[in-house]
Amino acid sequence: MAQKPKRTKSGSAWMHEHVTDAYVKKAQQEGFRSRAAYKLLEIDKRDHLLHPGMTVVDLGAAPGSWCQVAVQKMKRQGRVLAIDLLPVAPLPGAEVLQGDFTEPETLAWLEKNLQTARVDLVLSDMAPNMSGVVLRDQARHYELCGLALDFAVDWLKPDGALLVKVFQGTGFDDFRNAMRRAFAQVVIRKPEASRDRSSEVYLLGRRPVKLEPVACADAS
Ligand code: SAM
Repeated sequence: MAQKPKRTKSGSAWMHEHVTDAYVKKAQQEGFRSRAAYKLLEIDKRDHLLHPGMTVVDLGAAPGSWCQVAVQKMKRQGRVLAIDLLPVAPLPGAEVLQGDFTEPETLAWLEKNLQTARVDLVLSDMAPNMSGVVLRDQARHYELCGLALDFAVDWLKPDGALLVKVFQGTGFDDFRNAMRRAFAQVVIRKPEASRDRSSEVYLLGRRPVKLEPVACADAS
């Protein structure tokens, strides 16, 4: 008897899940660029992160749904500075750089734009392209998380917060411990909009415990 073909995580299976996903449909109906918007909306509903007048830095912003949420919640008052390797289509209310957050010139762009202003909220939804080699992918992901944490520690206001996506597995405990050293409070969030089968969770750190002096940006 012919064996039923094994179900693989093929492109067509992904496409089927994508078009039938309730959050994908909702995002299309409500004008969000991706279903990821609902992860931030859920976390914000619970943790009240976004308010008018804030300065928000969004790392790994493409296609831009977290920026959309931030701009909406802030009622277009305040600043959203966003970075991604990929282009982000123009989004009124957000200042966007296409750049690699691991590169010094990307950090320099942020520093130049912020001048000496501190940041209320750092968002990092960065995820590297997966090679399929789990340990390598985890290591690259945690390198990005570490850079987001370093940036947050350097730039956050005393009552500021960092929301960062992490994948549970190798490196998780070390990174959570680093967050616990850096913030007075650290909680884990797994929004319903995050797929059950995904090992992603979000760590939310509030109130950095050690503030580094902000260096004056080079205005040249
Ligand atoms: N939060 C986004 C939204 O709501 O539209 C979705 C972010 S997506 C899950 C992860 C993003 O991280 C990708 O667009 C990817 O290009 C970006 N990324 C990965 N590595 C990066 C890096 N080194 N610098 C900047 N962005 C990076």
